[in-house]
Amino acid sequence: MIRKFVAASVLALVSAPLLAAECSVEVHSTDQMTFDTKEIKVSKSCKTFTIELKHVGNLPKNVMGHNLVVAKTSDVQAISADGIAAGVDKDYLKADDARVIAHTKLIGGGESDSVTFDVSKLDAAEAYQFFCSFPGHAALMKLALIHISEPTRRYAISYAVFCLKKKLFMTLKPY
Ligand code: ZN
Repeated sequence: MIRKFVAASVLALVSAPLLAAECSVEVHSTDQMTFDTKEIKVSKSCKTFTIELKHVGNLPKNVMGHNLVVAKTSDVQAISADGIAAGVDKDYLKADDARVIAHTKLIGGGESDSVTFDVSKLDAAEAYQFFCSFPGHAALMKLALIHISEPTRRYAISYAVFCLKKKLFMTLKPY
């Protein structure tokens, strides 16, 4: 009984971060008007995908604010234009913009926000980007979000489980 419990707990601890890494990504934004992630890959094997945005700079959001918006490449320009018209109080996004697939709120230095969206919203035939809708920022902060069919990190998970089994066997033998 105890052995079973320990094995399950350890397995959960080890595999959870690996599985989570498949369907989520952490993106840092900076005072230099950049994202540190050059592309985001979303696997079709994920039901939902989570993007956590952190602002690792110090400047406030009215000066160097960043959000992270996901949309079809063909919609980015129009979303940006409407966002500028909406203003900083609306996080530089038009309210309930149907073209926006997902977005975080606008954040300043030291802040973070995350967003989760259904991967089924992405169409394999479309090109997507993630960008910041703060006026002018998309010039540097507009990058590819790629919808891929293969699941990522399958090898890493198998390897971890293999090592775990070996370790558990050795650890639990005395019981
Ligand atoms: Zn920005």
